[in-house]
Amino acid sequence: SMASPALLMRVVASAYSVAEKAATIVRNVMSAGDLGIVEKAGPNDLQTKADRLVQMSICASLARKFPKVTIIGEEELPTDNVTEDLIEDGHCEEILKKPCPAQYTGIKEEELVIWVDPLDGTKEYTEGLLDHVTVLIGIAYGGKAIAGVINQPYYNYEAGANAVLGRTIWGVLGMGAFGFQLAEAPAGKHIVVTTRSHSSALVNECITALNPDHVIRVGGAGNKIIQLIEGKASAYVFASPGCKKWDTCAPEAILHAVGGKITDIRGNSFQYNKEVKHMNSAGVLATLRNYDYYASRIPNTVKESLVP
Ligand code: AMP
Ligand code: MG
Ligand code: MG
Repeated sequence: SMASPALLMRVVASAYSVAEKAATIVRNVMSAGDLGIVEKAGPNDLQTKADRLVQMSICASLARKFPKVTIIGEEELPTDNVTEDLIEDGHCEEILKKPCPAQYTGIKEEELVIWVDPLDGTKEYTEGLLDHVTVLIGIAYGGKAIAGVINQPYYNYEAGANAVLGRTIWGVLGMGAFGFQLAEAPAGKHIVVTTRSHSSALVNECITALNPDHVIRVGGAGNKIIQLIEGKASAYVFASPGCKKWDTCAPEAILHAVGGKITDIRGNSFQYNKEVKHMNSAGVLATLRNYDYYASRIPNTVKESLVP
């Protein structure tokens, strides 16, 4: 007889469906035309109706299925009394059929922390740069990002009416990552991807020091990791505070599942236990390949300006 699937695989399979529901909400809010924009810390830190609805949808849906898991979402909103139309209780059957990596088969609910960014790239969403937007569900165990789901609700939106809109990328450490075509960045070229809406003198100083052949400025931490795993960029460099644990958890799991590496700008790995500080104060450095090349070229002055 078949043993029942391991908890981790059930969580990932559910997170996949929950992220697809989230993508539908993101598209519906945009097409309804009223974004309901609220400033949080300031004009570069926005929240829309989509951020709010998706936060409630993801957190309430996962909490209902996995009541003992710790769920930490970006938006501070109550998840009791969430209306039934926001609840997703499905799962991806294909994920459930895959064997759980042996080191994760014994994980219990109370040992998991789920980091949720309901809508990553909000600033770009409000500006119509729709393919920058992702929904991020990262799963951590023992302080490490071990699994993640990145949904890109507007993948293909410029490819014409016949193209399938949206995609879901997922991955588990020790298993790999799926839902996209892994590709290497052009050999011998240094293409840096960084923020478009949260630049600073230090962000630019750090990029200049790397002497890149090309710089891609796009929104979203999820979107920038997609640039790395699809070979569009060779390094994600962000020498600034601002990015949070919910921005990096799912991207980290997927990047690490395909052999990449993400740290802060000083080379420290991120921790994802529930007590950890949310802010990634010392920025982000990520690559699919050649991490050491980029890490060795970050100026000490930049490193010393960013305190973890
Ligand atoms: P970006 O690359 O600018 O899209 O940033 C990646 C993620 O970090 C997004 O979720 C941003 O909202 C967040 N972020 C980065 N810098 C800041 C900042 N200065 N203030 C608020 N959020 C930020
Ligand atoms: Mg974000
Ligand atoms: Mg967000």
